[in-house]
Amino acid sequence: MVKSFIQAGYQQQNQPDSPARVLVVDDELTNLRLMGDLLNPHYEVLIARSVAEAREVLSAQIPDLLLLDVMMPEVDGFSFCRELKENDETRDLPVIFVTALHEEIDELKGFQIGAVDFIHKPISSPILLARVRTHLELKRRTDMLEQRTLIDALTGVGNRRAYDLILAAEWRRLQRKDSCLSMLVVDIDQFKLYNDFFGHRQGDECLQKLAASLSKCINRASDQLTRYGGEEFVFLLPHTPLKGAVAVAEKLMADIRALNLPQSPDADHNQVTVSVGVACLQPNNQHPPETLFLLADKQLYEAKGSGRDRVCFSEEPRSFDE
Ligand code: GH3
Ligand code: MG
Ligand code: MG
Repeated sequence: MVKSFIQAGYQQQNQPDSPARVLVVDDELTNLRLMGDLLNPHYEVLIARSVAEAREVLSAQIPDLLLLDVMMPEVDGFSFCRELKENDETRDLPVIFVTALHEEIDELKGFQIGAVDFIHKPISSPILLARVRTHLELKRRTDMLEQRTLIDALTGVGNRRAYDLILAAEWRRLQRKDSCLSMLVVDIDQFKLYNDFFGHRQGDECLQKLAASLSKCINRASDQLTRYGGEEFVFLLPHTPLKGAVAVAEKLMADIRALNLPQSPDADHNQVTVSVGVACLQPNNQHPPETLFLLADKQLYEAKGSGRDRVCFSEEPRSFDE
């Protein structure tokens, strides 16, 4: 589900009006042509002539809906659907079987495996279009609701649940890609004094302004910003080495200084500042993803202890076991 959340998020951010994507899998060219011609004017259609081809398509992108033939040589549709439902990344992809099987028992089997619907061959064009439209609309609404459960209501960035899900997903994904993951933990300095002086309401507004400023430091589609807790934000930067992560940290510090938000006269600085802890790791399956947070948080602690308003990072990012 995280994967689909992330992808839905990217899609909304990058291409708000992009058409839904439908993958059609069938070993018969005439069926593919018929369905392709029907769907093409309305959706982006992806085609696969076998389960092997479908796996390839899905390794690059997860569509919004899958129309799946049942009887195919090598791997049949039922087995493939089972495979998709067992995989975290494809579990939420709705599957409609399109099949010449007409027995009640076959239809029932399809639903038990996790299909959302059945379309019988020979294909009725209006029924196929109507069912596809209905299931795409349901998928759009489910994605939207799921996304809402991952957004922090005050600041509009990802919430703690999003952080947990994204970190776990990226930790798994980057192990497979043999690539690194950087984390920035950003904590507002002496924010208690800010609240005490300006009041909680203005404190909330300050959090909103800072979150908006931090959001501008998101450069790549895979970078994620979440509110970890009260006045603490976390950036997750996949495929980003320590040097790149430190550069993002320096940039966000400069942006926040440029906001020039007044701080309480009791605080060390006369404007709102933040401290940042940075760490980078190559995810592996011997350590939990929290290892990365512990390293970044340790650096944050260093930044706080050495006067706040600064970035600290670990020079030796690969030492898991300190
Ligand atoms: P430090 O520089 O060591 O981080 O000091 P601090 O005062 O920022 O840290 P501390 O953990 O003592 O206090 C955090 C404060 O953040 C407490 C609370 O008043 C404020 N805070 C946390 N969440 C919210 C929120 O949602 N809204 C507002 N207005 N304030 C919040
Ligand atoms: Mg077939
Ligand atoms: Mg603080």
